[in-house]
Amino acid sequence: MHPLVMKFGGTSVADAAAISRVVRIAAAAAAREPVVLVVSAMSGVTDELLQTCDLARSGNVDGVESRIRGVEARHGAVVGEIFRVQADDLLAHISSEFDEMRSVLRSVAVLRELTQRGADRVTAAGELMSSRIVAAALASAGTPATWLDARRVLITDDVHPVALPRLDETRTAAGREVLPVLEAGEVAVVGGFVGATADGITTTLGRGGSDLSASVLGAALHAREIQIWTDVDGMLTADPRLVDGAEVVPHLSFEEASELAYFGAKVLHPSTILPAVQDGIPVRILNTLRPDGAGSLITRHVTSGDGALTALACKRNITVVDVTSTRMLLAHGFLRRVFEVFEQHATSVDVVTTSEVSVSMTLDDDRRLGAIERDLRLIADVQVERGMAIVSAVGDNLRRDSTLAVRLIVALDGLPLRMVSQAASRRNLTVVLADRDVPAAMERLHQKFFAPARSAR
Ligand code: ADP
Ligand code: ASP
Ligand code: MG
Repeated sequence: MHPLVMKFGGTSVADAAAISRVVRIAAAAAAREPVVLVVSAMSGVTDELLQTCDLARSGNVDGVESRIRGVEARHGAVVGEIFRVQADDLLAHISSEFDEMRSVLRSVAVLRELTQRGADRVTAAGELMSSRIVAAALASAGTPATWLDARRVLITDDVHPVALPRLDETRTAAGREVLPVLEAGEVAVVGGFVGATADGITTTLGRGGSDLSASVLGAALHAREIQIWTDVDGMLTADPRLVDGAEVVPHLSFEEASELAYFGAKVLHPSTILPAVQDGIPVRILNTLRPDGAGSLITRHVTSGDGALTALACKRNITVVDVTSTRMLLAHGFLRRVFEVFEQHATSVDVVTTSEVSVSMTLDDDRRLGAIERDLRLIADVQVERGMAIVSAVGDNLRRDSTLAVRLIVALDGLPLRMVSQAASRRNLTVVLADRDVPAAMERLHQKFFAPARSAR
């Protein structure tokens, strides 16, 4: 059996009307083939729950209770709207989720200490509840569906709050939990973003992690296809919030999609593609509001590559760290010592460039920067610049057409570039510039390489 895995993001389950659309789309698919649904928390809920955790940490018991009541009321209202008849069972499950959340948050408030493990237990509730609602909504609309607890299906390591799925253990668990449901002709519905360690401790996969849940389950179940249903028509040529007239990229390669996600195309979690690659499982991005659209198809081989570039991506508000060797040259072993510091502080760097005496790196996550700076100063001079951004142009054609990189840089004429990088894959050209220059940079690149009708290539 090669099921279809369909993941619905937060806006796709934001309210009763959205959930009804999901039910229609999933029911139509389930009439054709076995379906696994992966569901995000209703949009905004993960943020609310994280804020509630912060309130608990500061001991603000009233603040916690009023937030929790708000989230509870939203779920209650959605259930009330979807189910005309009593939904006592579902409401009892949801209310026991809130009881558990309250008891975790109470102890956080007493201790004024929030462990990552505790935060994961709280945020996981968003997906555990939304997926239960979707499963019940499907069943009540006449499509047999079974809700599965993601913690029995998706097995991860214990790195809170960004746990890494373990594919072999997930394959065994999914075989045990999901396959019997599909074999019985029912839709299997599971919350995204959530997993558990082998000994059952609740974990989460990091922000945007429901995409990763879908692709890991897809790989574990040898899916026919993994579909990411969201609020845009597919992978677009640029972030539509930054650029007017971004168009759908109809077909792109696994590598292109991975690089776009890595460099900031939020429509896909950066690790989504990896589990799909091994089995060559196609990944499709589709719009819940326009289910008949073709979306974007991501596969191993792409033949149509007529365009110069595939898409642009950007990552905003990142930090650049310049490390300059206090000796005159980048002595043997210097880079190793620099990167060891980042490793010790569990911080990854995205873009790296070097000169004879210095190395520049960008960081997305600067929470440990103080300690990193202190350790680096033991071996080098260090300069930190915040408020920077990464802009990347991605396309397999960058490998074939050596003039493309030049034309890209020329298009950015007048905008000070802090770093320029083209890695071994030669599938992206990446520049680092001031964050305030991002709108202009994206607009210019998009204008020059994609609009109108992608003709100016
Ligand atoms: P979901 O809740 O469905 O997971 P996300 O908000 O995580 O949705 O991702 C979808 C959003 O990603 C879009 O609404 C869009 O604003 C943003 N986005 C950024 N870059 C791109 C891109 N290149 N193509 C499509 N969407 C993008
Ligand atoms: N709900 C989680 C988040 O908002 C995971 C996801 O939706 O992908 O980050
Ligand atoms: Mg997302």
